[in-house]
Amino acid sequence: MQTSLRKITFLGGTETVTGSKILIDAIDKRILIDCGLFQGLKELRKLNWAKFSVPPESINEVILTHAHLDHTGYLPLLVKNGFKGPVHCTLPTRDLTEIILFDSAKIQEEDASRAEKYHYSKHEHPQPLYTIQDVVETLPLLVSHELHEWVLLSKDLSFQFQNNGHILGSAFVELMINGKTIVFSGDIGKQHPMLMYPPKKIKNADYLVLESTYGERLHEEEPVKNLLLNIIEETLDRKGILMIPSFAVERAQEIIYLLYQLEKEQKLPKIPIYLDSPMGVKTTSVYDSFRDWQNISRHDAENMYDQVHFITNFEQSKAIVQNKEPKIIIAGSGMMEGGRILHYLNNHIENERNTLLFVGFQCQGTRGRSILEGSDSIKFFGEYRKVKCQIRSITSLSAHGDQEDILKWLRNFEKPPKTTFINHGEPHQSDALRAKIEHELGWNVKVAKMNVPYELS
Ligand SMILES: [Zn+2]
Repeated sequence: MQTSLRKITFLGGTETVTGSKILIDAIDKRILIDCGLFQGLKELRKLNWAKFSVPPESINEVILTHAHLDHTGYLPLLVKNGFKGPVHCTLPTRDLTEIILFDSAKIQEEDASRAEKYHYSKHEHPQPLYTIQDVVETLPLLVSHELHEWVLLSKDLSFQFQNNGHILGSAFVELMINGKTIVFSGDIGKQHPMLMYPPKKIKNADYLVLESTYGERLHEEEPVKNLLLNIIEETLDRKGILMIPSFAVERAQEIIYLLYQLEKEQKLPKIPIYLDSPMGVKTTSVYDSFRDWQNISRHDAENMYDQVHFITNFEQSKAIVQNKEPKIIIAGSGMMEGGRILHYLNNHIENERNTLLFVGFQCQGTRGRSILEGSDSIKFFGEYRKVKCQIRSITSLSAHGDQEDILKWLRNFEKPPKTTFINHGEPHQSDALRAKIEHELGWNVKVAKMNVPYELS
């Protein structure tokens, strides 16, 4: 039987930036692009527990655009519930996914045992969504491929990865079914990413699936290095602590790279810098082992981490948390939903000398989002703390392109795709991008809706 396109269904990553899962039904094959976890709002997280829309064993292949949890975090559950096929990804994505999934399983297990201990679940024995053992069983399914290597899945079905500049190992997926191409943007990096190479220009697609995290926004124009330096200097003038909640993947390394550049230019004041994140430290060693994937000089790649204290030991971390001396702390998690940053905030958020600096996207329903939106008190470890420290934000550090970056990338297409499906964005972001593309490029654009099958031909 000849494989040909039939339909595309978005099982997540619509009206939200989390839970990305895109199901492609061909005549005799079923493919899932990304397998992400829902995060943030409770109604979204509940979807992780719902029955999967199709029997997991009916899916033939999974292809991952990159390692972030909102694109990979559901994999162990898919495998636990019957998926047995290969999970295709790039080599760095494989290594980063391993770190991310183990961390996620550990959090799931800890949450379940805490819920049991303090009786805040309606279940007598609350269960984790998945366990470390489920991750152990998932990892052997990961198969890695080079960029620009056409991978033949069957006679009429193949795909290739192309660099998309978002994080280490991230890629566009070009899926070719019987001569028709669907391009999945994954999360698109900026036109000039800090560490990665710029997104590959793509010229043709019959269909395009396009993210819209910053579909409406434009990043600041001022160089991020100057913005960061100003924030460091003003914090130091107050003899304060600069707390930077950071994603372990890419963002932590970018901040370290900026600090390294400031140091090289002899602009960085004397101040201790800590990366207090076991996951951040592990991730950094993956970055260090894939230097060829990064658009920075060999000298910089070798030296950029020298001035940072890497903290993995909990006792050491506790001592740094207690110390009130000025310092720069980079710690997870990026949206303040867990991790060691909570201990720093719990101890230092009520002091106006200190600064809390946002350097990444904050999902609805997270502590990060509510502080960013002006909440004056936030709960840590069961107690409310007043938000008195200075709040700063640098949005241009995002690993996502802004509206202009996306438009620039789209202008590389020689002719419009038949349909461009917009996903991975909060509603106003997706809609703003739809309107912009329709208006500027005259393309046929649809904002994807969850669980609605769209016919392809
Ligand atoms: Zn991402």
